Amino acid sequence: MDAAPSTCPACGHDPFDEPGYYGLDGTTDAQGVTHVHWMPCCQWRAEDVQDRGFEASYEKPLGQAVGELVGYDAQLADDGLVVGLPERVSPARSKGDGRYTSPKGWQARVFEHVDEHHRHHDRPQGWKFGVALDRGRTRIGVATVGRPVSRMLASQFPGALEVTRVALADVPKDLRTNAISMLYGEVARKAREGGYDRIITYTMEDESGDSLRAAGFVPTHRSRGGGWSRESRPREDGGKVDLTGAKVRWERGLTRSAKREVKERAAAFDAEPMQREERRADAIESVIAARLDRLETRLQRIPGMEWPRMAALLEEAYAAMREQFTKAGHVDP
Ligand SMILES: [Zn+2]
Repeated sequence: MDAAPSTCPACGHDPFDEPGYYGLDGTTDAQGVTHVHWMPCCQWRAEDVQDRGFEASYEKPLGQAVGELVGYDAQLADDGLVVGLPERVSPARSKGDGRYTSPKGWQARVFEHVDEHHRHHDRPQGWKFGVALDRGRTRIGVATVGRPVSRMLASQFPGALEVTRVALADVPKDLRTNAISMLYGEVARKAREGGYDRIITYTMEDESGDSLRAAGFVPTHRSRGGGWSRESRPREDGGKVDLTGAKVRWERGLTRSAKREVKERAAAFDAEPMQREERRADAIESVIAARLDRLETRLQRIPGMEWPRMAALLEEAYAAMREQFTKAGHVDP
């Protein structure tokens, strides 16, 4: 660390004296965001900082001085907020067989963040692992990861994991910069560590996906909810299905072969805008999905119902409904 700078040549003030180092004083608000104020010791110092800048005047970079004050490495945002350097929090450990262990209480803390901050949904059903992004003492966001919610997708891509939720805290924009990309990046790293070959996730059709692109994801499919995802809750009125709110599936390959395969489907996706018939078929899929969700809820209430038996019943119901819709001419076989 640098030697302590000399006292103020004009007034003799020691920068380490009250109210804070280098005239800096910090308060932390209810969101855990620290606001720092600079109060120069005298008119000379105010003018010196104005003329030469903080670093030249105090012989110390402003970010470093603030960091010493608040206790963590910090940056200053335009509006005077102290922004801790982004720190990935990712305590899950791969067990080498596709499973992960996380420290006690970690899942609960991540889910609490989702409950508090997610716009569309509550905590997800499944859990492989979760990652978080902190800045200083502020938790900026979390991402939760599970097996693909669509069982069809899970069997099509056995090496896939799905980002089931990304939830950012309601903090100033400066603190959220690149947060989503960093969360997805950490998810990819952790998935690769566990031997998985791809990550999938969904956005609503009207979301830009810029953060996903920045994290190496490409769009591969458009649907009402990717098969019978729990996230699809279609409105059924008089047999009509609300077609708004279509979802886009994004993927990122983690191995050479998965990368190539994802790239090929992404190219096909870009080339073919969704046809009317496809939209219709997807709408039917989401009707089936909603029915399967209800069936699963009922099955879960049956005492002694084990997952393999339940999965078989659900698969059976799915096949029967698909056949029924196909016969009615709604879905291509
Ligand atoms: Zn002074």
